[in-house]
Amino acid sequence: MAKQDYYELLGVSKTATADEIKKAYRKLAMKYHPDRNPGDKEAEEKFKEVSEAYEILSDENKRANYDRFGHEGTKFGPGGFDFGRDFSHAGDFGDLFEGLFGGGGGGGIFESLFGGGSRSHRGNPNAPQKGADLRYDLQITLEEALFGTTKEISIPNDHDCPDCKGTGAAAGSSRETCKQCNGSGYVISGAGFFKVQSPCPVCKGAGSVVRTPCRTCRGTGRVKDKSTISLKVPRGVDTGVRLRMSGKGEGGQRGGEPGDLHVVIHVKDHPLFERDGDDLICSVPITPDVAALGGEVEIPTLDGFAKLKISSGTTNGKLLRLRDKGCPVLNGRGFGDLLVRLEVEIPTKLNSKQKEALEAFHAAFDKSSYPEMRKFHEHAEKFLAQRDSLKK
Ligand SMILES: [Zn+2]
Ligand SMILES: [Zn+2]
Repeated sequence: MAKQDYYELLGVSKTATADEIKKAYRKLAMKYHPDRNPGDKEAEEKFKEVSEAYEILSDENKRANYDRFGHEGTKFGPGGFDFGRDFSHAGDFGDLFEGLFGGGGGGGIFESLFGGGSRSHRGNPNAPQKGADLRYDLQITLEEALFGTTKEISIPNDHDCPDCKGTGAAAGSSRETCKQCNGSGYVISGAGFFKVQSPCPVCKGAGSVVRTPCRTCRGTGRVKDKSTISLKVPRGVDTGVRLRMSGKGEGGQRGGEPGDLHVVIHVKDHPLFERDGDDLICSVPITPDVAALGGEVEIPTLDGFAKLKISSGTTNGKLLRLRDKGCPVLNGRGFGDLLVRLEVEIPTKLNSKQKEALEAFHAAFDKSSYPEMRKFHEHAEKFLAQRDSLKK
């Protein structure tokens, strides 16, 4: 079957910039992403095709090859590459949204996000306005990420004043049209060609003013508030995961809808486990005698301690994989693996008896027990012999 042209697939021209290609790919990848089209074979196929196209066109060298030789040009080149392997990465849904919220910055906890918060009114300045979206950076422990938790978080919850319903006018009175701007909310200054439109200084763009201010909000129509919300953190979350709570952002104005709250997860480092996607990595110290003779160690897992057999002749850094003993898969079934890295610990602060024992241990061995050391010496001698012959 003839393959479709990569540029056509992404809907960009042959001269498209890297940025244009990226944008086009994001749009298509989001549209066809398997997470959004569960069970849809056609979408899945399409997703693979656009990912493949992006894989090639986003890489300068691969793109140049493709431009010169067409699809054939993508089959060779340094090292070659394997499509199937990289898809999961190229199509990571999370990555597509990366950047939407800016970096994972630890600084300020709250930032107004896109939309919602624009305070410049066009048309009716008294129309209801949606509240801004808020971002909350939540630090949790690895244990909380592994088992899930519920967190009480306190967020600012500014909203319309309940006593005046956001108008700012005391009970029995109402807002009056601003005389300065005749209710438009802006004034025009300058003359002739160079007219400048700016927010009305009297009503600050509202188009109306309060004669008798509401006592609760002192005429602002807004009250500052905090609310505590209970957030369910699902098990399996990792740093960078964003949980959206719709309607929990800043309160709307003049009866407008509230914005959303976006909680960005940060998982703290853990002394026992490192995280690698859904896998957990645990470094386990073992003694030199257990490494040589074999034995057993106890490993902490999500299900409690597990006994792990160490075979004789275990080398430092050996990795053992315990299937399904890792992190729960977020919003899915099953678990990652637990990778156990065995690290031989050398005893320190030896007493004289221990020193004697080790000297006897040393005397009982020769090179044949240490194949790596033997290899090392062979290579070292070869290296020096070559050096001598070349130096002549
Ligand atoms: Zn009020
Ligand atoms: Zn005005």
